[in-house]
Amino acid sequence: MFAFFLFSFVQFAQKPYPVNKNNKPTRAGIDLYVAYEKEKTIKELQEFLNDSLLIDVEITTDDISEYYKNEELDMAYHITYSDGSAEIVIDNRERYVAYDINGITNLKKFNLTTSNQFVKTVLVHELMHTYFLQKVVIAKYLGAYVSKEYDYRNIMAIQIFPNYEKAFGAEFIEEGVCQYVVNEMKLEIPKVPPKSKTVNDILENSNEIKYYYSIQFLKPFLDSLGVGEGINVLIRNSPPSYNEILNPNIFYKRLL
Ligand SMILES: [Zn+2]
Repeated sequence: MFAFFLFSFVQFAQKPYPVNKNNKPTRAGIDLYVAYEKEKTIKELQEFLNDSLLIDVEITTDDISEYYKNEELDMAYHITYSDGSAEIVIDNRERYVAYDINGITNLKKFNLTTSNQFVKTVLVHELMHTYFLQKVVIAKYLGAYVSKEYDYRNIMAIQIFPNYEKAFGAEFIEEGVCQYVVNEMKLEIPKVPPKSKTVNDILENSNEIKYYYSIQFLKPFLDSLGVGEGINVLIRNSPPSYNEILNPNIFYKRLL
């Protein structure tokens, strides 16, 4: 009896992070959530990856609306430095649907079409950028070849002299790996991207292509190789061209 009582107390003590009158996470709640849940979330991710996050990444929260090149859909910043370290800033404005996907009813899940964002999902997505970076850092350390578009040491050079198609391809791959993991961990409501047939379709729907079509593009490959080994292969190959994004077979055939 006593044990049962204690157990319910612990359950109660862990109870919900604060929500506002629209039942959405509050700014203070988002700050708390990220501070208290980050270690647990990192552990869950490591279990999924069957690998460790070695980069000591600082994770903070802030209103990111005034940040460099901020776009309406951005929910966080993953800042990569040319020495191979990283920082994550999660947006703490009150525009998340819930803290995590379990925080909403099935009916609501069914009705969610546009905004599909949870604090935990954003956190895992950003941590996957850190993991992707870690794979590049380790490959460089081991003297392995890394295609220049993925090399953190070239970040400035790529921003100054972008080859748009290759830069897009590299972003498509990295975002796709992050989104694949978020989906496999069932942290997001799956979304079907529009079918693209031409380069113009890609450019016009670049967000859907980068964040949703990329999952379909990568899934068979990552399912069979695993995320860690999959990233190792992807980063030693030049990113997909627009044509290869439209025709995955052509891309996968040339991988070394
Ligand atoms: Zn991202």
